[in-house]
Amino acid sequence: MSDTTTRIIRAARGNERTAKSWGAEAAKRMLMNNLDPEVAEHPEDLVVYGGTGRAARSWEAYDAIVRTLDELEPDETLLVQSGKPVGVFRTHEWAPRVLIANSNLVGDWATWPEFRKLEAAGLMMYGQMTAGSWIYIGTQGILQGTYETFAAVARSLGRDSLRGTLTLTGGAGGMGGAQPLAVTLNDGVVLIVDVDESRLSRRVDHGYLDEYTTDLDEAVARVVAAKEAGEALSVGVVGNAAEVFPELKRRQDAGQLTIDVVTDQTSAHDPLAYLPVGISVADWKTEADREPEEFTRRSRESMAAHVAAMVAFQDAGAAVFDYGNSIRAEAQLGGFARAFEFPGFVPAYIRPQFEEGRGPFRWAALSGDPEDIYKTDRAIAELFPDDKALHRWLDKAREKVRFEGLPARICWLGFKERHLAGLKFNEMVASGELSAPIVIGRDHLDSGSVASPYRETEAMKDGSDAIADWPLLNALLNTSSGASWVSLHHGGGVGIGRSIHAGQVTVADGSDLAAEKLERVLTNDPGTGVMRHVDAGYEHARDIARERGLKVPML
Ligand code: NAD
Repeated sequence: MSDTTTRIIRAARGNERTAKSWGAEAAKRMLMNNLDPEVAEHPEDLVVYGGTGRAARSWEAYDAIVRTLDELEPDETLLVQSGKPVGVFRTHEWAPRVLIANSNLVGDWATWPEFRKLEAAGLMMYGQMTAGSWIYIGTQGILQGTYETFAAVARSLGRDSLRGTLTLTGGAGGMGGAQPLAVTLNDGVVLIVDVDESRLSRRVDHGYLDEYTTDLDEAVARVVAAKEAGEALSVGVVGNAAEVFPELKRRQDAGQLTIDVVTDQTSAHDPLAYLPVGISVADWKTEADREPEEFTRRSRESMAAHVAAMVAFQDAGAAVFDYGNSIRAEAQLGGFARAFEFPGFVPAYIRPQFEEGRGPFRWAALSGDPEDIYKTDRAIAELFPDDKALHRWLDKAREKVRFEGLPARICWLGFKERHLAGLKFNEMVASGELSAPIVIGRDHLDSGSVASPYRETEAMKDGSDAIADWPLLNALLNTSSGASWVSLHHGGGVGIGRSIHAGQVTVADGSDLAAEKLERVLTNDPGTGVMRHVDAGYEHARDIARERGLKVPML
């Protein structure tokens, strides 16, 4: 089936499976869930989020993956190469049911033009992070991380919350769309700019954005009034960030408003997924396809103007940070020399969490029943009674987060914490308290699973930012520990040539075997994060390793 523009994909729900193991069934349902129109940004193109992050290379490949997973024996492993199923091998029950490699290119060839040539020849796809590894759960997947980042921004400003502050950002897509809710959960006011009106209206429909307008004057009036009143409010405005950011700086210079925090999550990692000034949304794809090199030049030029405005806000006293989309590197290529004057969010706010192996742990209920997630929420609260921030998050998530696709939850847990959650969920499946298995995974943006010098490994203490042995070891270890599927990707988050990262997903089906696998995977996976930071010389990671019993031969 190749003419598939009208296909609507939705994962099966419930406790009956058509595949021969829960590992294969879960992989199939999570692939389908990634393409559910409630979850994916552009499901008709197999695009899940993050510019062109795809779940499968083509609809033919998608159909073949689904068929193969249904036929896969419990001691077989399916290999997927850039979104296409390429082989099935006899392994054993402890082995992953699926091994995935997406978008990987040899160093000297790792450029967007080379990648696009191979993609056009039907040989590759861009997997982003959780798109091609089948563990995207909608905008919630980044919400807690974004919420915690903005909480850290508030603390860095000497405040308890963002009340009475105004944040400016760009990009209301699959991940960027979490920003407005994350700011209002921190009691602040946010103005978010997106060129594509349909993205802003989707965020309003899904409860992530309060309102949007096409009129900048109106948007400014709304946010200024809310800031003065100390009210939490998120306002979207349709416009090109490369024009709106400099215009807002002019208005700030004229005394019309003061912006306190500035960041951005447009799809800047891919110059063809960032719209340059002077091109309309309607012409975007045609122009990018017609002359990709010229489009890239114009897009970088616009990013230079966009980032120049961000630096100007920093000069004027705002807290400014790069939110993991590589916009500084692109702006520098566009000719703006001061692009790297503001920091990335990981060294600025997140690294201490990575030292503990903490990162965006997540799970989804294969039953499709929201009650199953509420039960796991309560279980997590009971497992970690003293973690106030976690309790506050779980309460807010229950109240504010609408599920997209299969009900799911995210929460940041670390080394010697995640396995407790996994084992508890498995017991709850076994006892029938939960009505179907739970899928447990994480983002690739995690403490031990990624090498990304403009993001997760920016400014490492020992200068090891670009060393990619770590994510390879992470993937090999998860494969050896019992994960249900393991993935190894290149280029996620920050674009081709700039990152290498790994993912794992493990299924809690209530069996004793699942318990053994979960205990190992969910201890070892975050353990590699602590190991990586011990090796780089972080004191807190060393303390964590000693306190929690991580064996590091040369510590
Ligand atoms: P997306 O493609 O779903 O959304 C990007 C949005 O940017 C779109 O809505 C698009 O219309 C808008 N946009 C493009 N050019 C614009 C311009 N010139 N002005 C205003 N808006 C413009 O992508 P996403 O999933 O939201 O991810 C956004 C970026 O964030 C990507 O670069 C991604 O790699 C990165 N990312 C960061 C993190 C993190 O933790 N910090 C996590 C995931 C993704």
